[in-house]
Formats: sequence, C-alpha cells, structure tokens
Amino acid sequence: MDLPSDSVMDPPLSQETFEDLWNLLPNTLQTVCPEDLGYPLSSDMSILQESGVTTTFSPPPSAGVPSTEDYAGDHGLQLEFEKNGTAKSVTCTYSPDLNKLFCQSGKTCPVLIRIQSSPPDGSVLRVGAVYKKSEHIAEVVKRCPHHERAGEPGDVSAPSSHLIRIEGNTMARYMEDANGRHTVCVPYQDPQVGSQCSTVLLNYMCNSSCMGGMNRRPIMTIITLESKEGALLGRRCFEVRVCACPGRDRRSEEGNYLKKELKGSGKRVMVTPPMPEPTLPKKRLVTEEEVFTIQVRGRERYEMFKKLNNALEAEDRAEHQKVTLKCHKCRDDIKPKKGKKLLVKDEQDSE
Ligand SMILES: [Zn+2]
Repeated sequence: MDLPSDSVMDPPLSQETFEDLWNLLPNTLQTVCPEDLGYPLSSDMSILQESGVTTTFSPPPSAGVPSTEDYAGDHGLQLEFEKNGTAKSVTCTYSPDLNKLFCQSGKTCPVLIRIQSSPPDGSVLRVGAVYKKSEHIAEVVKRCPHHERAGEPGDVSAPSSHLIRIEGNTMARYMEDANGRHTVCVPYQDPQVGSQCSTVLLNYMCNSSCMGGMNRRPIMTIITLESKEGALLGRRCFEVRVCACPGRDRRSEEGNYLKKELKGSGKRVMVTPPMPEPTLPKKRLVTEEEVFTIQVRGRERYEMFKKLNNALEAEDRAEHQKVTLKCHKCRDDIKPKKGKKLLVKDEQDSE
C-alpha cells in the first residue's frame, strides 16, 4: 500500500481522549507507552471501548529467554500452513520436514490456528521471535537499522523496529518487555462458522540476511495462546527464513536435510548393487532407462528414499528440458521469430 497514511487511517484521537482510554486499561498493559516506541497514537484503543470487547493484554512475560518448546496445552493448540509448494513465484511456503517457513519480506504469511476446545473468553495470541542458536539467543530480534529508518508509508500502527507484524487486524497490540523483546498480540477469535481454523496474517519486515539485523542468523517464531491474566495455555514454534526466493530455498534446504538424514541415520540399507557398472558418459544421460530395485527396511526410511527419488526424477525432468532446448537451438540455429518466445515450463510443484 503506497497510499499516504492519512488517507487510510482515521484521524488520531485528541490527546485527552486517548489518555482517558489509556488510563482505563489495567496497569499491566502499560509496560510500554506507545509514544516511547515512537509510533503514533491511533484510534485503536477506542475500538476496545466501542465494541465492548473485554480483551485485555497482559504484559509480555519478561522471564529472560522465551521458550521454544512446543506445548499443545489443554486446548490442543496447533498451527497449520497453506500448502504452497516450491514454485518460483511463491512468496511464502512452509516445510513440514524442517518445520520452517520460507517467505519474502513484507509479504502476507497466513498462519492457521487450530484449537481443539475453545480457550476462556478474553484469551490472546502472542507472536514473538527469538534467535535459534544458543549463542545469539540473548539478543533481541528486531529490524535492521536500515529498514527501521526507511519506514513504510501507509503503515503507522506498528513500531518501525518490530520485525513481526500482524496484518489486517486493528486489534493488534505491539509490546516490548523489560528485556526489550518485541511481541504483538491479538485477541483469540474462534474460527468463523464453517471453518476449523482461525487465521493470523504475519509479515516479516526484514530479510534474514539484513546486515545489522538478523544478519543471516536463523530465527524461531513463537506463537503463544494466553489467558487474559497472562497464563500460558499453549505454545507453538517454527523456524523462519525471510529471503528473496522462498521456493528455491525451501527446495534446497529440504534436499540437504534429506541427504543428511540418509547419511546420518547410520542404519544399513539393503541395496541390490547394480550389476557391472556400465561405463557412463561424462555427463549422466537423462535418457538412462535401466531401472534398479532397492529393498528398504521400515516405512519411514522407505518414504525417505521415495522422496529422494522423486526429487532426483524432478531434477532429471528439468535437466531434460534444458537439454532439449539447447539441442533444439543448436540444431536449427535459428532464433525464435520476432514476437515469439521460447516457452519454458516453470518448475512443477513437487507437493
Ligand atoms: Zn532489514
């Protein structure tokens, strides 16, 4: 959205009105004054009043390092993600194997919240981030100085230093705990009639590679369900990589993971060796038709091999396409006619 902020936002309340409303809120909420965070006062507080919503936001837990241990809790908190595959054009994709979200900065990442039994009224969802590696875990995850300064026209409700934003929810509250850790909260809402999950739209406002920010250090996103008194009801975590090509990066990281799994499993796999190795041409030909069978013990390992094989097959197909294109080109050595393009099929979704 490139609209100037004042055309999309309601005019801010007068200072008196805001203070009146602010003072009505429980003290615990006032851990950080929004003015200190450097973001303008919006009319959000009045929404709390007008709609009679009883949600209060407890202060972020300030006990040192946030936990990244999954905990479904009594209400069976679970996260789900859209199955977006690894096509080139994808802006946000989740890898179940790696429990990792790959997304572009500033793009919408829908996270589906599934709960088995409704939590108490006034429960909230809190979203925060922490560095994955223990050597960085003490450091607060925030935006890089460059992006923090740059700001985005049209978005005035989120403090510019916060990496994670919740999109499309006027009830979102941005907070900072005593250690300077950032979180954003929204009231938990039961799924709409006919659906089983409620959705939170996350935005990550920097790339993982941002200098002076994440600086290539992997992060975990932590989503907690909390009662209005601030008691923990459930926690789910996933790793995040914010990058230019989420599809490509997911594919390559999954490939590496699979290779490591196969190597690291240390278990023997019965492989029927291919009979006398045929002398292969320097580059493996994709037209290789000979088929081998391997016997694998255990379904899990079988699935792993199947995946690896599927990946190799897909690679072959891609390679084959390239080769055909090249051969085609050099055979007739004619450039495509003006106005005509060589059509290359995009990568197939491997899901
Ligand atoms: Zn940045």
